Amino acid sequence: MSAFEEQHPASPLAHARKNTWDVMGEEEKHQAMLFSEEYKNFINVAKTERAVLAVARELLEQAGFTPLEDTAVLKPGDRVFTINRRKALIAAVIGKKPLELGLNIIGAHTDSPRLDLKPRPLFEEGGMALLKTHYYGGIKKYHWLSVPLALHGVVVKSDGATIPVLIGENPGDPVFAVSDLLPHLAKDQMDKKMADAVSGEKLNILAGSVPSGGKEAKERFKTAVLEYLYRLYGIIEEDLISSELELVPAWPARDIGFDRSFIGGYGQDDRACVYTSLQAAVRTTVPEQTALLILADKEEIGSSGNTGMEGAFFANAVAEIISRCVPAYNDLILRRALANSRALSADVNAGYDPNYDDVFEKMNTARLGEGLVVTKYTGSKGKYGANDAHAEAVAYIRQIFNRHGVIWQTGEIGKVDQGGGGTIAHIMATYGMDVIDCGVALLGMHSPFEVASKADIYMAYKGYKVFFAG
Ligand code: MN
Ligand code: MN
Repeated sequence: MSAFEEQHPASPLAHARKNTWDVMGEEEKHQAMLFSEEYKNFINVAKTERAVLAVARELLEQAGFTPLEDTAVLKPGDRVFTINRRKALIAAVIGKKPLELGLNIIGAHTDSPRLDLKPRPLFEEGGMALLKTHYYGGIKKYHWLSVPLALHGVVVKSDGATIPVLIGENPGDPVFAVSDLLPHLAKDQMDKKMADAVSGEKLNILAGSVPSGGKEAKERFKTAVLEYLYRLYGIIEEDLISSELELVPAWPARDIGFDRSFIGGYGQDDRACVYTSLQAAVRTTVPEQTALLILADKEEIGSSGNTGMEGAFFANAVAEIISRCVPAYNDLILRRALANSRALSADVNAGYDPNYDDVFEKMNTARLGEGLVVTKYTGSKGKYGANDAHAEAVAYIRQIFNRHGVIWQTGEIGKVDQGGGGTIAHIMATYGMDVIDCGVALLGMHSPFEVASKADIYMAYKGYKVFFAG
């Protein structure tokens, strides 16, 4: 079957793929393009989980959301948020119906793959100062070679003072880089398997080369960097042990293609879903059922930790919200509220890539430009580890998206037994709620320059908005 036939099926009974650009009118195309400009601004700034939180907080406050902790009683239409360690967030718009009947929940994640500095990162070798890293999340290590990197994060001194660090995002700033081996000397490296060609311990960052002190001084290249750090931030080497310094691609998001229909940029997994779900939340007024957005951290390393989806933050925050909505809080109300909820796990999916045709099963793979991706199951090797949404839950999503003109498609991450992936869906499901994966298709997921379609980003926003409205 050709792609043409698929879009023009022989029978009206057949399910046809829809291209969002065909379906949107001129006005909606214009809206999609404008929305993408704001989205690019967001991902240019929100390159770490802490930065996502700072921008998210600003957006929510501008839209009238107030800290949950400052509120004693909540009534329909009230807008609150709560933040967990500057890395995870829950925002809610209280609905007309009792929370016990369930909430409409969207969960996305704030973290993206990157290089983290080790606790003792600084060393010198060959007249150069370097910084050791430990990569975070599932990366192809060669992606991080010969790429300009910006340093983001915080150093927390032993007295509790937090020093923000941001180098490499302004045009005049220096950047950092991991050097690659010249092809002339790469004979042995080129013979290796791709996974082994670059070792994790060789992802060392170039950090300086002007020595400090006389020729006889020990470790004078390392000392020079320590002097910079002391001058710029007032920190000493031991302070780096209590730091979170992350290296991310220093480039901004760009339009791709003659028609500017794609966006290329870092961290679109999962900030494409973070931004669209945030915008959906701020545009939700008085929903029937309470709309709740959770932006979780640490998804890329298994959702562990107290800022990850497995942490107590989510259930605790829902309990705090319920306790402000009912006269007498009890655990049963919380359990019922969670079990009666519907949730979207808003995470990205793999889009069909013509360059790697052989890893996709074309009928069931999402395509860029064909709308928001609804994924019944993720997992690998026989759906292992998947949430596998119930047919009834998938039917509900079809119904609301179709009713509100949201262009959507179905997507599976790749061929059976080719590999796979997971999201926070299975963790949300442990509370008893119905969860479906629903997000944006990307090319080059987890690369420093992931690609999304502007039409799909817009449809994600539109889809999340109608989901919150109920
Ligand atoms: Mn993700
Ligand atoms: Mn990911």
